[in-house]
Amino acid sequence: MFTEGELAQLNQKLERQHPREILRWAVTEFWPDVAASSSFQTQGVPLLHMIAQTTPALPIIFLDTGYHFPETLLYRDQLVARWNLNLQVVRATSPNKRRDGGQQVQDLYRTDPDLCCYLNKVEPMQRATAHLTAWISGIRRDQSPARANIKIVELRASGLLRIHPMATWTRKDIWQYIHDHNLPEHPLLAQGYLSIGCAPCTRPVFDGEDERAGRWNGHQKTECGLHTLLRDSNERQQPYVTGISNEQQ
Ligand code: SF4
Repeated sequence: MFTEGELAQLNQKLERQHPREILRWAVTEFWPDVAASSSFQTQGVPLLHMIAQTTPALPIIFLDTGYHFPETLLYRDQLVARWNLNLQVVRATSPNKRRDGGQQVQDLYRTDPDLCCYLNKVEPMQRATAHLTAWISGIRRDQSPARANIKIVELRASGLLRIHPMATWTRKDIWQYIHDHNLPEHPLLAQGYLSIGCAPCTRPVFDGEDERAGRWNGHQKTECGLHTLLRDSNERQQPYVTGISNEQQ
């Protein structure tokens, strides 16, 4: 794997490359131990389009939390059919388990959204990427302060490489690409949903708010944990699992 110096050099080189070229490099370099993930939002469509054009066999992981808008599932299925994408649906093993491992609850997203995201997103993604060398995702630096410093290639302590081909693009670049290629938009975009996650945790965005302002409204939370918690092997043992035995996880 890469030394720190090699990684810095690589990032310097990739920083100037088009996402399509970064994608091509990643798949050539790490195939077959590489996959992408997508939550099938409008802003993720350029990356999906580039995958369809360059590497259609690349597995695309979709975390099915059970809480998605029906419009998201429909949009996902339309894009998969249109571009013949290699969709891999991943689900939680224990979707609504409480911290103490007791009875499952139906509204965990309301009472403990961090735990809900851990069980429905972080843990399933941890499972889905456990056998991989590289995981490609479409996150960008301009999406939120928490993402402002992401590098194009990041090596986690677990050995997993995180690859962010879209890191340098802005929202304007995304829209330019969508218009240039006449790509379809998520059906809820017209209603103000700029960033779309699970239905109970997403509201439309108002004028002047940032792209992700509609996520987890009323909570301090701004990230589900996929891009902040799932970093290395130590961080995979997050406090969210406190009180849940290994057997129950
Ligand atoms: S976004 Fe909301 S419903 Fe979805 S996993 Fe996180 S807390 Fe649960």
